[in-house]
Amino acid sequence: MRALTVIPGEPHSGSLTEVPEPLPGEGSLLVQTIAIGICGTDIEIVEGRYGSAPQGRKHLILGHESIGRVLDAPAGSGFAADDLVVGVVRRPDPVPCSYCAAGEWDMCRNGLYTERGIKGLDGYGAERFRLEPAFAVKVDDELGDLGVLIEPTSVVAKAWGHVDWIGRRSSAWSPESVLITGAGPIGLLAALMGRQRGLAVHIFDRVRSGPKPQLAQDLGASYHGGDLSAVAHLSPDIIIECTGATAVMADVMTRTAPSGIVCLAGVSSGGQPINLDLGDVNRRMVLENRVVFGSVNGNRAHYEAGAAALARADRTWLSRLITRLVPLAKWQQALTREPDDVKVIIEF
Ligand SMILES: [Zn+2]
Repeated sequence: MRALTVIPGEPHSGSLTEVPEPLPGEGSLLVQTIAIGICGTDIEIVEGRYGSAPQGRKHLILGHESIGRVLDAPAGSGFAADDLVVGVVRRPDPVPCSYCAAGEWDMCRNGLYTERGIKGLDGYGAERFRLEPAFAVKVDDELGDLGVLIEPTSVVAKAWGHVDWIGRRSSAWSPESVLITGAGPIGLLAALMGRQRGLAVHIFDRVRSGPKPQLAQDLGASYHGGDLSAVAHLSPDIIIECTGATAVMADVMTRTAPSGIVCLAGVSSGGQPINLDLGDVNRRMVLENRVVFGSVNGNRAHYEAGAAALARADRTWLSRLITRLVPLAKWQQALTREPDDVKVIIEF
């Protein structure tokens, strides 16, 4: 079968190659791949800046945002042929740490977790893949191929879940507004969940044109394009930071209303130090009970919550998040960023 492979650490090593069929030991569900979603992590891996191959070999099958149809499932697995499924990305570490032992592998403390298509395990970017039933998420037929958005939505569902947990430190927590920085797939999906919670949603992004402003407006959110001065008048209860840009982070850390919560969900590359008056940040955080926290990945409960959020969303709006559909043979195009990209999908 054909698979999208890469040699981690080696730039320009991505290729579409013949690989053996997945082994039964990789999971009892055999799945026919429909599509994979591409995100910044995939681009980093292809550029040789991230990722690791399974033990004992050089290449890694790429792809962690999946959607496929079950070809074969054992009786009693909870799955049947023709079911639409998405694979969970992370697997618990083998020790396991206390979090992985509790099924919260997204919180793994020893770093020995593995990730399909990213860290030590083959991904879903092959014509067929195998899944353990415990790491397969059933997709509603009504959502169909848009289920490829479940993985990025799981990341957002975790971020929102943790905002809720932190908010409950006060019985009076009753947020009314959220600012999302970055209108990529994660930002727009975070905005979707903000709207589903009945919040006033503001979205900030550098761009002023392309599909993002309209996607925000059609969600009932306010779009603020350009530089940070566009959001200088806002003091929302919650901020979900999805850009990873240092200047944006420095700004949003103290931009909330008092007792506000900032979730950092964007990953920075580092190496770009900026001048920051940390004493001033301290005063604003301490004297007004602000929280800034980081959030990554998601566990099974977050995939389920993400799938539920997508099931409640407008299908037309969701399909507009997918700005490019690239056939497998032209996979390179999918891994090259274009200015109006939101979510790019490779079709198998
Ligand atoms: Zn762990």
